[in-house]
Amino acid sequence: MFNGFSRHQISRTTGTFIAGTATLIATMFYIYADSAKADLNYEQYGNWNGYKVYLSPARHSNAGGRGECKGKNENTMAFNVALRATSGSYYNGQPNRTASGRNLRARGYKVRIGNGTLRSAIANSNAWGADLHIPIHSNADIAEQCNRTSANSFGTLTIHYNNSSRGLAFANKLRELIGSSSPGTRDTTCKNPGHPCTAINLGELRETNAVAAYVEAEYHTWNRGVSWLENPSWPWRIGYAVDSFLNYP
Ligand SMILES: [Zn+2]
Repeated sequence: MFNGFSRHQISRTTGTFIAGTATLIATMFYIYADSAKADLNYEQYGNWNGYKVYLSPARHSNAGGRGECKGKNENTMAFNVALRATSGSYYNGQPNRTASGRNLRARGYKVRIGNGTLRSAIANSNAWGADLHIPIHSNADIAEQCNRTSANSFGTLTIHYNNSSRGLAFANKLRELIGSSSPGTRDTTCKNPGHPCTAINLGELRETNAVAAYVEAEYHTWNRGVSWLENPSWPWRIGYAVDSFLNYP
């Protein structure tokens, strides 16, 4: 979930002033420590196809307290999705240049995974010259109702910058090819800013030079959603969408 989206729908009790102060200090240390982490860089297997893909997994300071079912953590799940999209393969984690479920490296892409702050992700994506920039998140609506089974209440949401026609096309491709795997059936694409589903202006869409599309792969506020987010059998679809958008360079 990006900051500000549906936050009001997550029921949270407010801590005491002292607890709040402790959280703030812990958050400051977290950000300080986090900013020192370098991005992860990966080379393609075999010949480079000429394209660079920047994956930017969620880095919420309150991950684990964002309504995630099964005791999971949005940041960790998103980071694992990025790793699997980059280097995993459909079944056994081995690079396979011919499997339909092959990863980004096996498709010939150089990949960078943002491992620092939001600011460093934007700056590094631009300095590196990424062709595609993909923030990876999971969505949230209501906390502590994990046993819900109404698939049409959940699904994949992708978001593009509102003046980017290529961003729209890329967001649609990601929604189509990830959404067809995720258990929720309410798959949508929306623009940012200015569309009802995204009230705030997202810097990773607005300030990145690459064609950018934001992925809320599925809701983490139902058990089926979390089980799917944790399953290594689908993140290759990010590479599938990239390849499909670029016409298999
Ligand atoms: Zn998020």
